[in-house]
Amino acid sequence: MYGLGVVKGMMVTLRHIFRPPFTVQYPEEVRPIPRRARTNLVWFEERCTGCSTCAQACPDGCILVATSPAEDGSLHIDRYEIDFRICMYCGLCVEACPYEAIQAGGTWKDVTAEFEAMYRDQDALTRFARNYLRESNYTYPNSQRVPDHVIQLIEQGS
Ligand code: SF4
Ligand code: SF4
Repeated sequence: MYGLGVVKGMMVTLRHIFRPPFTVQYPEEVRPIPRRARTNLVWFEERCTGCSTCAQACPDGCILVATSPAEDGSLHIDRYEIDFRICMYCGLCVEACPYEAIQAGGTWKDVTAEFEAMYRDQDALTRFARNYLRESNYTYPNSQRVPDHVIQLIEQGS
């Protein structure tokens, strides 16, 4: 029938007039972000064994792990770095890590227009993770509680 399309279109418009808007007035209003949203990668040094499984799983070669043997038979992590300039946030490193030392989550507020700032070394990743834990009431993105001795270390700023 001629004009049916116009009527259908107007019906959609009418339905939406009486619904609350989906948009939020950012930055005054911020939409809640799910804990495990793929906003970022958060590396937790205290959970990491230096096994390099994440680095091997990464198709882009973003992750660098360098270790040396420690006296107790474990591995000392000399370097842990992520090159976010080439990361595609596929999450394969997160899935591969046997200890959930790298997890998806965190804020999107650390976006940067500086290309070089997207290469994060161990110190930068640790600072980011500790800020994350402070702001999330010492809970990892996977909802596990941070061990007390780690909380003490973070609060002492060491
Ligand atoms: S999210 Fe994907 S591309 Fe990024 S570091 Fe992990 S495995 Fe590599
Ligand atoms: S796979 Fe996990 S435990 Fe192993 S080096 Fe990567 S982040 Fe650390």
